[in-house]
Amino acid sequence: MSKWPLGVFSSIDAGFGVPLEVANRLAVPTIHLHCPTAEFRTDEVADEFRDRVAKCCIRVTCVFAGFEGESYADIPTVKRTVGLMPRQTRDHRAREFMQIAEFARLLEVDVVGLHIGFVPHDPQNLEYQRLVRLTQKLCDDCAARAQAIHLETGQEPAEVLMRFIEDVGCQNLYINFDPANMILYGCGEPLDALKQVGPYVRSVHCKDAIWSDRPGETWGTEVPLGTGDVNIASYLATLEAIGYTGPLTIEREISQEPERQQREIGQAVQLLSDLMQKIGA
Ligand code: MG
Repeated sequence: MSKWPLGVFSSIDAGFGVPLEVANRLAVPTIHLHCPTAEFRTDEVADEFRDRVAKCCIRVTCVFAGFEGESYADIPTVKRTVGLMPRQTRDHRAREFMQIAEFARLLEVDVVGLHIGFVPHDPQNLEYQRLVRLTQKLCDDCAARAQAIHLETGQEPAEVLMRFIEDVGCQNLYINFDPANMILYGCGEPLDALKQVGPYVRSVHCKDAIWSDRPGETWGTEVPLGTGDVNIASYLATLEAIGYTGPLTIEREISQEPERQQREIGQAVQLLSDLMQKIGA
């Protein structure tokens, strides 16, 4: 596969992301797939979807895990509900994560993406240590299926994420870098963060956002690619500098407005194609 194949976020049962038909119409060669709910994670669904993507000449490069009860309403709600940090749902979600990874294997996908939740900043924190041990378990489970786990960025500063990955110490734990999330969550300048975590970046999202006037307390605003504070030309130059050659997966999280979402993703495909041409990528 050539360097930086374009991609979009897609889903089987129309959760986040655009339907596969839209990816096909945009002629992108890759997708990240938001995992379907449990009732759709069957052999039959996997067989059928594998056939559909093959017919479109699309490759699924990552299956993203998500869990019932997660809400991105505001930053405190994300903290309370997202990923493997909330204690009440942790064990149940860990088991579900392994089922999602099994479903990804049925789709012949060797990467599972995850918003792990807000990792505590203090490595002495008991919850931090529990999360390290749980992540080691999930990594071992994925390694047995020849899969890697990519942690989505944004909910913590680069150095916290780096230390967490080093403390877990598994060879199949990497990063899915999302520059807009760094801005949305107020966790640091995205391109500085990208340089810092560069060695661990194995997949990326192309998404843009504007800083909140109270970073870290209230959300920034997600905007169409190229109209926010990321600086997409510099983003590509930084990806080039860290030696990243994997897919560029466009994300536009306005599923509630499907027509606008598809239009703006189309514009993002154009923008990335133009920029890549300019820098000869
Ligand atoms: Mg993302």
